[in-house]
Amino acid sequence: MLPAYTRADLAFERGDGAWLTATDGERYLDFGSGVAVNALGHSHPHLVAAITEQAAKVLHVSNLYRIPEGERLADRLCAASFADTVFFANSGAEAMEGVIKMVRKYQSANGHPERYRIVTFEGCFHGRTLATLAAAKNAKHTEGFGPMMDGFDQVPLGDLKALKRAIGPETAGILIEPVQGEGGVRSAPPQFFRDLRALCDEHGLLLAFDEVQTGLGRLGEMFGYQKIGVTPDVMGLAKGLGGGFPIGAVLGTAEASKGMIPGSHGSTFGGNPLAVAAGNAVLDVVLKPGFLDHVRDMALLFKQRLAELRDRHPSVIAEVRGEGLLIGLRAVVPYGDLVNAMREEKLLAVGAGENVARLLPPLIIGEADVAEAVQRIDRACARIERAKQAAPKQGAAG
Ligand SMILES: *Cc1c(COP(=O)(O)O)cnc(C)c1O
Repeated sequence: MLPAYTRADLAFERGDGAWLTATDGERYLDFGSGVAVNALGHSHPHLVAAITEQAAKVLHVSNLYRIPEGERLADRLCAASFADTVFFANSGAEAMEGVIKMVRKYQSANGHPERYRIVTFEGCFHGRTLATLAAAKNAKHTEGFGPMMDGFDQVPLGDLKALKRAIGPETAGILIEPVQGEGGVRSAPPQFFRDLRALCDEHGLLLAFDEVQTGLGRLGEMFGYQKIGVTPDVMGLAKGLGGGFPIGAVLGTAEASKGMIPGSHGSTFGGNPLAVAAGNAVLDVVLKPGFLDHVRDMALLFKQRLAELRDRHPSVIAEVRGEGLLIGLRAVVPYGDLVNAMREEKLLAVGAGENVARLLPPLIIGEADVAEAVQRIDRACARIERAKQAAPKQGAAG
């Protein structure tokens, strides 16, 4: 394998709900969800049945033909959101490429081909393709990959003055995550999003949201924009949409989509029958009355308990942040030490920017899972404190 990833020496054989069983038989509480993907946990019977049934019928036919289950998924996504159109892709980065293309094409179709630039925000993450890397301008990700694509201007998150200065005659739109996931579970206040909406309306720009991580119930609402109360013109989805099966989507208003005529975009695999069967099965669960109430209840409970842990372990946890079940523990020690200590206690979490350990449990967790996770994080913090005491002169463990 290409050594592009830093992997833990750990492999899993099977999963069930919020739990994963490793090849050595050890059970882990999975509060990483494969980086916010396994929204329904592992082996959800409804998702397994939908994929199994579809696999026995037809896997793939291409986009040369109609795909009725895809049309149904698109209708349901539109009914649940602001959108009028849906384009299916295979991943988050591919969805965001589609978002970027749609923003540019809209301006061109509207008689403004000179408007192609998109304003993005420091700390953002939109994927690992060349255009999404150019949008994020993260030196760690772009180094050595040659000249980056032109057309992205970046300003600090929440800085309205800098944003106004960045908007010029070539600006086509603004792209933002409702909550930055990879960037460290950070967000701007709702007023900033309202200001973005107003600026877009004033200047004829499209407002694009990257909801690859925040969509599909992660923040306690179906989509993050609903939580903020500001509606974009275009948004990208992926991660939770297939519950573990790869699928992404670009959602847009009829107006924002008007440049995307036949032949303007495409994807061989995008929205194939198996992928959209998975998407429909996830929606069956997430759209059930009461499901999002449950997510909000679990999020509130978990955050209260985490706040207690922060008070009990101030030398390990500096801050609890985030919305819904996208939660960050800003660490005092290097965040990797905290993630590793949690893994020692058989709890899986994910790192993020700003020295944050990210907790992204499946949306189906119950109170017992939350209680178990809190105990394990408590023990992980104690583990770090003991290591600090054992080596006080060396500073942080690890
Ligand atoms: C994960 C992520 C992406 C990229 O998704 P991939 O499926 O890895 O290409 C893009 N945007 C956000 C906000 C993400 O969290």
